[in-house]
Amino acid sequence: MSGTCPYGPLLAAGAAGISPFRRAPTSPERRFAFQGTRHGTEETTLTTATGQRTFDSLDPATGAVVGTHPIQDAAAVRAAVAEAGTAAAWWAGLDRAERRRRLLDYKAILARDLTRIARLVHEETGKPEADATLEVVLAITHLDWAARNAHKVLGMRRVSPGLVGANIAATLEYLPLGVVGVIGPWNYPVFTPMGSIAYALAAGNAVVFKPSELTPGVGVLLATLFTEAVPEHQVFQTITGLGETGAALAGDPEVAKIAFTGSTATAKRVMAACATNLTPLVAECGGKDALIVDADADLPAAADAALWGALSNAGQTCVGVERIYVVDAVYDAFMKELTDRAGQVKAGRDYGPITMPAQLDIIRRHIDDAVAGGRAVLGGTGSVRAPFVDPVIVEDVPEDSSAVREETFGPTVTVKRVADVEEALEKTNATAYGLAGTVFSGNTRRALELARRMRGGMTAINSIISFASIPALPFGGVGDSGFGRIHGADGLREFARPKAVSRQRFALPGMNLTSFTRSQKELDRLVRLVTFLHGRRR
Ligand code: NDP
Repeated sequence: MSGTCPYGPLLAAGAAGISPFRRAPTSPERRFAFQGTRHGTEETTLTTATGQRTFDSLDPATGAVVGTHPIQDAAAVRAAVAEAGTAAAWWAGLDRAERRRRLLDYKAILARDLTRIARLVHEETGKPEADATLEVVLAITHLDWAARNAHKVLGMRRVSPGLVGANIAATLEYLPLGVVGVIGPWNYPVFTPMGSIAYALAAGNAVVFKPSELTPGVGVLLATLFTEAVPEHQVFQTITGLGETGAALAGDPEVAKIAFTGSTATAKRVMAACATNLTPLVAECGGKDALIVDADADLPAAADAALWGALSNAGQTCVGVERIYVVDAVYDAFMKELTDRAGQVKAGRDYGPITMPAQLDIIRRHIDDAVAGGRAVLGGTGSVRAPFVDPVIVEDVPEDSSAVREETFGPTVTVKRVADVEEALEKTNATAYGLAGTVFSGNTRRALELARRMRGGMTAINSIISFASIPALPFGGVGDSGFGRIHGADGLREFARPKAVSRQRFALPGMNLTSFTRSQKELDRLVRLVTFLHGRRR
């Protein structure tokens, strides 16, 4: 929370009601020929002399063009997937040690170019470069874990055949699926897709990645750097375009699995496209995560974590804190800690602009709704100064308000006084989403119990979003937050198919049960054995 404001003039423009997005495009010959993109009315696509449609990625803080990328159509997607099919066969056939070595090389290349990647993330999303750096570091950590643990998790192992199968050697291994299509969001354009890409590659698959149209440059860079480690085949490709490009990928019959991260609404569309070919899907969607403050919590630590969870990345975090429930006994003390700190956090200095202009309307609607039903403690209806939004804290907002029920994806948070942690948990779980959450408590036993009962895939105790930085922990939600898991051993298995093999080592004398020559005596022997093994009640 220090340093000068890199967005000073923009903030002034926003305050004066002038949207920086309305600035003249940098190139006069650009034609705003296509309105189907998500930047808003200033979105630019142009058709080149070759007939290739293109689109621009823009710096959301300045409106400057960061890069121009092709809109790849269904034919281009099909070609990329076909190429990936060849690459997948080659990659899966590599010795596992060689695959691991290539992935660790890729990791080293990402570490070498960390600053370059972080700068591009900053340009395309608007987030501070320091936050972008943190994101890339986390992605590198996951890549490292996936590469090092793939064989341990997926490699062939013997499993116990049980007494009845004593003459059988049973083995299990997890084989690659083939081509995995990854469709990613813009809010963490490195960390989030890498949670699928790294694990899919480590499991022996080729990947075709469709980044968000807001962050195509980052996606292209990630794939370009991969070719330094794996130049032979297109094991990891990035295709660029708008929603229709993602739809073509999801509907491609040669794609073995889709890993989607984005909104619940789009996940449903992707699932429908996948249904055509019975393509399996892992869906990482949005959330409405809560933070619970118990009576014996460390209040300064809880307030600090709550603020980071709510405001960092301008609140554009799927596992960000959107609701806070504080037990009555410490409510006033907690609110003092929270508001004292919140007053020090500045939009444009500590966090960047809203990356996707259309989100500003949703944020504004939620703030209006929250303020109408509750009490604004910090900020309010005037806090939206496009493309920035100042911190907003509203207390005592009705639980049926949109600000409490729907994903806001902005630097806003609601706070509610509750009688005890049971009420906090009940309210926390009363949502269609179920992604993650946080508990601050001085009582480890109670915190662990609350965490277990919290609806969702991950809970952090006395820390914020700490589960995301631990590669061994699976990540994913329930309900409207999606299904399936990325990260950890579950994340590796998500991109593999179990292969079970049973090999008869010798024939069991007098127990030839799967033959038409089977005798009654053999069956009687089996029944006696099963009665002996399983016939007693405990
Ligand atoms: P969207 O659902 O709008 O888009 C996600 C991706 O899907 C983008 O690449 C988008 O492309 C693509 N897409 C759009 N339409 C289709 C379609 N019909 N078929 C296939 N692909 C399509 O989400 P956002 O990018 O706005 O991301 C924000 C959302 O993601 C939030 O809800 C957030 O909570 C969630 N999220 C969840 C995470 C998790 O791990 N659970 C992590 C990060 C974010 P295009 O951009 O070109 O439209």
